[in-house]
Amino acid sequence: MTLIDKSLPYVRAISPYLPGKPITELAREMGIPVENIVKLASNENPLGMSPKARKAVELAINGIERYPDQFDLIKAVAERCKLAQNQVVLGNGSNDVLDLIARVFLAPGRSAIFAQHAFAVYPLATLSTGAELISTPAKNYGHDLNAMRAAIRPDTRIIWIANPNNPTGNFLLYPEVRAFLETVPKDIVVVLDEAYNEYIPPAERADTAEWIKDFPNLVITRTFSKIFGLAGLRVGYALASAEIADLMNRVRQPFNVNNLAIAAAIAALDDHAFVAESYELNRRGMEQIIAGLKRLGLEHIPSHGNFITFKAGDGAAVNQKLLKQGVIVRPIGGYGLPEWLRVTIGKEPENTRFLEALEKAL
Ligand SMILES: *Cc1c(COP(=O)(O)O)cnc(C)c1O
Repeated sequence: MTLIDKSLPYVRAISPYLPGKPITELAREMGIPVENIVKLASNENPLGMSPKARKAVELAINGIERYPDQFDLIKAVAERCKLAQNQVVLGNGSNDVLDLIARVFLAPGRSAIFAQHAFAVYPLATLSTGAELISTPAKNYGHDLNAMRAAIRPDTRIIWIANPNNPTGNFLLYPEVRAFLETVPKDIVVVLDEAYNEYIPPAERADTAEWIKDFPNLVITRTFSKIFGLAGLRVGYALASAEIADLMNRVRQPFNVNNLAIAAAIAALDDHAFVAESYELNRRGMEQIIAGLKRLGLEHIPSHGNFITFKAGDGAAVNQKLLKQGVIVRPIGGYGLPEWLRVTIGKEPENTRFLEALEKAL
């Protein structure tokens, strides 16, 4: 028996997460200057960070020798979501809070349900606890809530739902989500991951935070990585009943969100003009890319996020040809979609670069 054989078998069974290729890595591999590379692979905000957040980070450098105090950000999030402060749990990115939920409710002998083609962090968070992962077939590439409901077993403790979903962009209408919550036993946690919440068109939005009082088994997660443009700082949060939040805080590292991230997130939350500008840029860019894909005769999945998934044929081969032209998108073979590629909506010239490179790559 080697040392590695003594490691946890369910950890050895995990397939590693494949991140979007960093610009610097492609530059090293292909000898392309960094400034000639367009990265549309990780659903980052093409406008960068909010100017108000930038100022807050600069100020927060003073005091970096101190351990962080989460109070002000928790207060800001609680006020924004009209919840009590003890219902907010901060994370080092929302991936961190997904992990906290898993650690509170999952272990060997328990199970969690997720949908085929749903976000890769749900399998990671589930399998790293030794729990079993139940995968239900997709419906039109998105979550099939009836299938998820039918998959519940006596040992099921968590149901993971991304709305909109990444990487497919599918969106479940909120009345449908609420009807689903009505049918789920109250001793099973439903995680509603709303990483792209701020990109949902106003007419289709719902105040899901308000649902927690009716459904104490509902946990909502959101992030500052997407529309707020703070992916590199790592900050997100969960909204939950005070009881669940308390348990999550017991397994949370006390200083999991750093000073700069806390300061930036408080400022970003308040920068309504930046959020509105980012939303508008995404809406226009989405139209531009959809028009381009149609021109090329490529099928796409309608998306409510800041990205869109399209059928490229041989996804890996087309991806290679895009990389050679300095355009990074996201292959999603690991999500069971080897014919498809996901592209993040960029600024107008970036979208144009992508569409021109794609035409050549086909
Ligand atoms: C990007 C994304 C997140 C956010 O991850 P962070 O850890 O907050 O950067 C969470 N869920 C989904 C579905 C995502 O696509």
